[in-house]
Amino acid sequence: MTALLEVNGLRVAYGKIEAVKGISFSVEAGQIVTLIGTNGAGKTTTLRTLSGLLKPLAGTIRFDGRPLAGIPAHRIVALGLAHSPEGRHIFPRLTIAENLQLGAFLRKDGEAIAKDVQRVYDLFPILGERARQAAGTLSGGEQQMLAMGRALMSRPKLLMLDEPSMGLSPIMMQRIMATITELKASGTTILLVEQNARAALSLADRGHVMEIGKIVLSGTGADLLHDESVRKAYLGED
Ligand code: ATP
Repeated sequence: MTALLEVNGLRVAYGKIEAVKGISFSVEAGQIVTLIGTNGAGKTTTLRTLSGLLKPLAGTIRFDGRPLAGIPAHRIVALGLAHSPEGRHIFPRLTIAENLQLGAFLRKDGEAIAKDVQRVYDLFPILGERARQAAGTLSGGEQQMLAMGRALMSRPKLLMLDEPSMGLSPIMMQRIMATITELKASGTTILLVEQNARAALSLADRGHVMEIGKIVLSGTGADLLHDESVRKAYLGED
């Protein structure tokens, strides 16, 4: 079976600073794959490059059987690769419903869009209850839900989530993690970037540890959770 996403020898630089130094990994359809690592390891840069927002210095990205080189970001979304960015980037003055509609901006199938909005409300009932309110009135965790919901509105084959648990209370974080598991069960493939390595590895099929632009360790989520170096460096154990 070929992978849904295949990244080979990817290098990305900001001017002279190389933030991603030749990484390779793949994501099989139906899997949750996580990239973990400390601040500045290059995780966000990797996701932004996969989305077409940054141009790689070298390497190849294949998604759903085709190379992504030179394809603009909006076309990449249309191919089925959606990105829920770090820091959320919702539109605070628009309503929750309007923010979700924006996630479907490339689609013309009105009825199906309405169904998908309903599906997001089923996943996150608070969004449905407050559909007509300005998104800026939501709490941080609720805004995170909205960002995920908006990414889902493009009906992605692969959903990339950047730090979905950032700044959330433990209860909200559990809710987001449970939703990621539900999304997997409904057939969405997920690439998850997380600071919270324990939570991410607990639900991931595979994980990759990034350090200063490189993947230094890869394995199943369970393997990495039990790996001594991971436990010391990322799970706060001695
Ligand atoms: P974080 O969790 O803090 O986002 P990360 O693993 O996602 O960490 P990146 O944000 O990808 O890491 O950053 C990788 C490196 O690239 C860091 O050294 C960072 O300072 C640098 N970097 C990120 N964005 C830029 C930018 N716009 N211009 C210059 N350097 C940048």
